[in-house]
Amino acid sequence: MRPYDVLIVGSGLYGSVFAQALHRIGKRCLVIDRRSHAGGNIYCTNKEGIDVHSYGPHIFHTSDKDTWDFVNSFVPFNHYVHAPLSVSGDRVYNLPFNMNTFYQLWGLRDPAQVKEKIAEQVRQAGITRPQNLEEQAISLVGTDIYETLIKGYTEKQWGRSCRELPAFIIKRLPVRFTFDNNYFDDCYQGIPIGGYNRLSEALLRGIEVQLNRDFLQERDYFEGLADHIVYTGPIDAFYGYRFGPLAYRSLRFEEELLPIENYQGNTQINYADAAVPFTRIIEHKHFAFGKQPQTVITREYPQTWQPGMEPYYPVNDAHNNKLFTQYRDLADQESHIVFGGRLADYKYYDMHQVIASARVRVRQFIETFYAI
Ligand code: UDP
Repeated sequence: MRPYDVLIVGSGLYGSVFAQALHRIGKRCLVIDRRSHAGGNIYCTNKEGIDVHSYGPHIFHTSDKDTWDFVNSFVPFNHYVHAPLSVSGDRVYNLPFNMNTFYQLWGLRDPAQVKEKIAEQVRQAGITRPQNLEEQAISLVGTDIYETLIKGYTEKQWGRSCRELPAFIIKRLPVRFTFDNNYFDDCYQGIPIGGYNRLSEALLRGIEVQLNRDFLQERDYFEGLADHIVYTGPIDAFYGYRFGPLAYRSLRFEEELLPIENYQGNTQINYADAAVPFTRIIEHKHFAFGKQPQTVITREYPQTWQPGMEPYYPVNDAHNNKLFTQYRDLADQESHIVFGGRLADYKYYDMHQVIASARVRVRQFIETFYAI
């Protein structure tokens, strides 16, 4: 008999949720992670009492009550509502695009006039069926907003022209004709009280976790350790990049501890201008309504991903999606390996989506292999 029933490669949300469900029914699980900490990209570092989102800001939001109840069963959430701002030139605008933004840009406060203004700009741009991010953005909010708040930000973020980017990226953002700065349309939203580490610690409670262990470096050893493997790392790396590497966008974080109480008065301020090299500044304490005498800010600089860098955003264009399906076809033939999560699914997942996807898959897994 092998020492473990299931080896889970990666201690991010997908791996932790999967492991938790198996552990609950008494399966012997081992979770490994190549990093020196568990939790994947939700991991936070505590600096002067402030929870710093080490891998970029994470705001939990969902409309799925079941997912909300699930996470709340591990840790209570605060009442944080994400309402970022964007700086263009010397002016500040509200996000997501809503009546506040339209008023700030055009001085209009009648929703009908705003709709007419956008429709006029869409007509002038001659867009009927949007084919790329630029056309999608213009058709949603018109040319002025596109030029002021989207084009520069997006091209910095993704390192390519908005005309070469898929439309779905911008569809993530709501557009509203009400004065409502809530970045998300979801029913439930918040940050775990005490920080995200409490969520991952609670999910992994009682489960053996080995850190600084790289599955791909010790493959033969790990493959012999368990009956099943759940792999949440990059799918192209799993197959030795045999069809070529999948493209990602990476990020460089420049963190500063400042001897002041409040730097920018908000968790997130975006910088829309192409001339500013970073995309946004995060002030972490405001996620938890912190009152510490100091503050920690992080500037985010997007980068082209290269081997050795953290792969953050999958570049889901036609070429890379096709490449991914080649890897996925191989993965589908594996009988004892489950692939899941952002890196194995090559998907721009939000946290609630990863959790939901892991819960569905682990239910199937338990039914198939343990007939429960
Ligand atoms: N976006 C933009 N301007 C902004 C914020 C977002 O043009 O000020 C666009 C940009 O293309 C970005 C996409 O909207 O990639 C999705 O933004 P979101 O805030 O969801 O990105 P994330 O927080 O996941 O990086």
